[in-house]
Amino acid sequence: MAKRQFKAESKRLIDLMINSIYSKKEVFLRELLSNASDAIDKIYYKALTDENIEFNKDDYYIKISVDKEKRLLKVADTGIGMTKEELDKNLGVIARSGSYSFKMENEIEEGHEIIGQFGIGFYSAFMVADEVTVISKAFGSEQSHRWKSKGADGYSIDEFDKQEVGTEVILKIKENTEEENYDEFLEEYHLRSIVKRYSDYIRYPIKMDITTKKLKEGSEDEFEDLVEEQILNSMVPIWRRNKNELKEEDYENFYAEKRYGYDKPIKYIHVSADGLVSYNAILYIPEKIPFDYYTKEYEKGLELYSNGVLIMNKCPDLLPDYFSFVKGMVDSEDLSLNISREMLQSNRQVKLIAKNIKNKIRSELLNLLKNDREKYEIFYKSFGRQLKFGIYNEFGLNREDLQDLLMFYSSIEKKMVTLDEYISRMKEDQKYIYYASGESIEKIDKLPQIELISDKGYEILYLTDDVDEFAIGIMMNYKEKEFKSVSDSNLELADKEEEDEEDKSSKDLFKFMKDTLGEKVVDVRLSKRLKTHPVCLSSEGAVSIEMEKVLNNMPTDQSIVAKKVLEINRNHDVYKALKEAYEKDKDKLKSYTNLLYNQALLIEGLSIEDPLEFSNEICKLMI
Ligand code: ADP
Repeated sequence: MAKRQFKAESKRLIDLMINSIYSKKEVFLRELLSNASDAIDKIYYKALTDENIEFNKDDYYIKISVDKEKRLLKVADTGIGMTKEELDKNLGVIARSGSYSFKMENEIEEGHEIIGQFGIGFYSAFMVADEVTVISKAFGSEQSHRWKSKGADGYSIDEFDKQEVGTEVILKIKENTEEENYDEFLEEYHLRSIVKRYSDYIRYPIKMDITTKKLKEGSEDEFEDLVEEQILNSMVPIWRRNKNELKEEDYENFYAEKRYGYDKPIKYIHVSADGLVSYNAILYIPEKIPFDYYTKEYEKGLELYSNGVLIMNKCPDLLPDYFSFVKGMVDSEDLSLNISREMLQSNRQVKLIAKNIKNKIRSELLNLLKNDREKYEIFYKSFGRQLKFGIYNEFGLNREDLQDLLMFYSSIEKKMVTLDEYISRMKEDQKYIYYASGESIEKIDKLPQIELISDKGYEILYLTDDVDEFAIGIMMNYKEKEFKSVSDSNLELADKEEEDEEDKSSKDLFKFMKDTLGEKVVDVRLSKRLKTHPVCLSSEGAVSIEMEKVLNNMPTDQSIVAKKVLEINRNHDVYKALKEAYEKDKDKLKSYTNLLYNQALLIEGLSIEDPLEFSNEICKLMI
């Protein structure tokens, strides 16, 4: 029997995990019980839906047993079991993809509990055990196998004789150390309290032989051991329990037990609906972004139960994409056990439930925004981007559902504000909702374009996310107030001036400058927005300068260019210098024009075509 090696990265991960991931060692039991329960879910569903399998409810249970002398703790289940290949695949590789491990090390430094995302809950057994043995017989298989490992060294698999379908996980519990008491994981009362704490709601009985002392027959002072099999868990699933009986901690335990996430959820929502369709649901808004959330691999969905039997792990039809971060489950009596994936999509009940759930999530998020701003902002930091994608996708179909959940940084409040708050503060003469986009708040703060609007006392929303301008572009307005970019070439400030003498006299100068720049700009003109800066760029038409940056960062061939306008500040000495050069030295004017254009590009965070030439031109000015 050859010893197999764990994948290289797995070795380090085992060490890392054992030493730093789980805050409490006792959670290994929760992990093993969750696995056992999942395995029973699978076979239970099969038995209920396949006429050829005999069904007897009592056949499905988990049993914990202890052998104190040999320091063995066993968790046995009557679940679906694993074949040799499955033992190898499921328990042999921790992080199933190398890229996960990278992310994982980063997360560990931040001290997050994220193990479950990597499918390695099983390995937590090594926190308390020197050696782990898994004996398993898969449903529909004649053979059974034994997997054995002492941790990071590797593992072996051989044939083994197990009669019943199911899995036994046997831990050889570590010896006590000065810091750590491992003996307690062999104590019945302690194990029982761990089960109660973390796994009470598992829907199959978790049995254990409990030893009690009993007076010996016919004796008054002699006791004997009485061994009784007891069921440790209440088995009433949390979603069937009365909300009043449940504490926040219960919901948090359920979240962890179900491995919805390894953070602490920001909010839980417990729905018990009796109406056109009856169902119970427990939904969670996570705090942290799952590591694969903004990738294609991420699968949205809720667990779907039919009258207590799990029929689907991730039912995508229950959640709209823009709420894809929501975790949780739905149980309904009105669904058939045999419902297929295709049928679910068109199922009237599922549609109704999905609609209710969507509204519920929305209203709970609005509540959070109203009543616990701090928490809402934490949520928004993680998932606000998804809400904005939600507005942009499907041509703005869902904007009504989402727009009141949006927040942007405000130039005046210096914090995140909602659109409604912005509107309520708008000045009497203010026509638009102004926004400025850029990579960061600091960079936007420095944009010349925001000066005049700020001076007028108008609030500006700072858009720092790639998706922001696209979302706002789709919305066009909020409560009948139009959005306007501070870089829009046509700002229409309230006291817009008529074309004056200066405008007229600068015409030839600007025509010359425009000709110098050619296709790079659509126009050169006097600025109506600059106050202290000499120059800036604005844009005309649908594509803004920020959008140009975002679109050109995408992996497509076509390059999309904003129609740029070079704006010159009439009150700046640079303008005088331009006029003078126009009269006296056209070559100089050409050089100034290029310089100013390049400066404006840099201010916008765009790259300049020829940095060397730019540098040379500047040097020429000095010598
Ligand atoms: P996760 O459960 O998060 O995927 P684990 O490391 O706990 O990660 O388990 C890996 C896989 O091993 C599980 O997804 C499951 O397929 C299988 N497995 C673990 N324990 C059992 C069990 N008791 N019965 C059947 N399969 C199991």
